[in-house]
Amino acid sequence: MRKPIIAGNWKMNKTAKEAEQLIAELKPLVKGAKPEVVVCVPYTDLWAVSKAIEGSKIKLGAENVAWADSGAFTGEISADMLKEIGVEYVIIGHSERRQYFGETDESVNARLKQALKKGLKPIVCVGETLTEREKNKTKRVLKKQVIDGFKDITAEDFASIVIAYEPVWAIGTGKTATAEDANKTIGFIRSLVKKTWGAQVGKELRIQYGGSMKPSNAKELMAMRNIDGGLIGGAALKAEDFAGIVNYKK
Ligand code: PEP
Repeated sequence: MRKPIIAGNWKMNKTAKEAEQLIAELKPLVKGAKPEVVVCVPYTDLWAVSKAIEGSKIKLGAENVAWADSGAFTGEISADMLKEIGVEYVIIGHSERRQYFGETDESVNARLKQALKKGLKPIVCVGETLTEREKNKTKRVLKKQVIDGFKDITAEDFASIVIAYEPVWAIGTGKTATAEDANKTIGFIRSLVKKTWGAQVGKELRIQYGGSMKPSNAKELMAMRNIDGGLIGGAALKAEDFAGIVNYKK
């Protein structure tokens, strides 16, 4: 059985003070959460949030990690820096990083290897753009992102990896892939992983859906056989909305 995982991606939102406030509101609302609950927050919020989540089930995540141990990489944050604050999860290869900051499957692969080497749990994002979808290239794009992004990753490594399937056209747009569509595409990713790394790896791998997930559509998406959770952007910024997704079964 794969344990569902709901992760918030705060992106470039919330000062440390605002972050404390949001966690204070969220804590009582997700007290009885059945899924694993993670908040991936800006670097400047990590310390405050690490303190604020104490005594709760909420786990701490970052939004990126450097591929090097340390050194002359202005603006980057290392895995050791994250681990010392208590970070457990890290988002890698979010479409906004690919779109605005030149991330490629190769840089995703380097960051992924570093996260694994340092014992961070990666949430690796993949997904097609609207143009790619309209040109019927979804499978080709996903295959490249998975094969190149996970180059040299072993079957054992997959035990701590989560993949987030995020169709780029559904992120922050209010457009959600239909539950059937998301399930089918995630099924394709799962079969690709099975073919490449083995049936057991594919069976056990948790794959999230991401893209305008909200309390009103979470139940339907989460009912799908292949969907093991959600990566949540906009709706993660309001305690009630995020908790509404976490508590999708209620
Ligand atoms: C995201 O950025 O990972 C995301 C899914 O955003 P939203 O939920 O706002 O579409």
